[in-house]
Amino acid sequence: MAVYQASQLGIENFSALVAHVLVPPAMETILASAENCVQGFLAAGHVCTITGYEDYLEIALQYGIPIVITGFEPVDILQGIYMCIKQLEAGIVEVENQYSRSVSYAGNQTAQKLMVEVFETTSRQWRGIGMIEESGLKLRDRYSKFDAEKRFNLKDHQTQESSDCISGLILQGIKKPTQCAAFGKKCTPENPLGAPMVSSEGACAAYYSGFHLDRGQIDF
Ligand code: SF4
Repeated sequence: MAVYQASQLGIENFSALVAHVLVPPAMETILASAENCVQGFLAAGHVCTITGYEDYLEIALQYGIPIVITGFEPVDILQGIYMCIKQLEAGIVEVENQYSRSVSYAGNQTAQKLMVEVFETTSRQWRGIGMIEESGLKLRDRYSKFDAEKRFNLKDHQTQESSDCISGLILQGIKKPTQCAAFGKKCTPENPLGAPMVSSEGACAAYYSGFHLDRGQIDF
């Protein structure tokens, strides 16, 4: 919206560093891995508020995996986990909408039209996973004057991942955060080495929080 408005208003001194990612391609990459251990997904409710959840139906059926669209309050997450486990125990595969107070099947179509107007898909590097084709968004050429990457010549700018970080294995459910040698030592929420330790809903940050609440006695 900011980019669209800047264009409409003829604003010149504005630019955006676009790093948006798309969830379904990342899910498919994880599920297609021979080593995948993920048995169900809680899909992010705020994203689905815009996108709806039609895209998830095919993934759920193709990979035989429950997907529950879930909000971010603690009780939302508890209910999302409960709905996911109920599906697993009943041996059924569905896309369920826990966050129905915000998410509809088709999503916010006005916002979707604006996104299509401003963005197009692009390949994107995912921390811990690597490059995933068509898994990100970039500004369309007609908005390129607002693209900070072009404006400030950032094309070759690369982030360095810590060699201690095993976030790719965490994301695929192959290892648990407590099995990372850096967990709680070199890597904490105050000094995160990888994406799962950055925000509170990240797997490593959530484990760290539980770990500390229980003074390290909790057995994951
Ligand atoms: S604990 Fe830190 S270093 Fe280890 S996998 Fe998680 S984010 Fe990466």
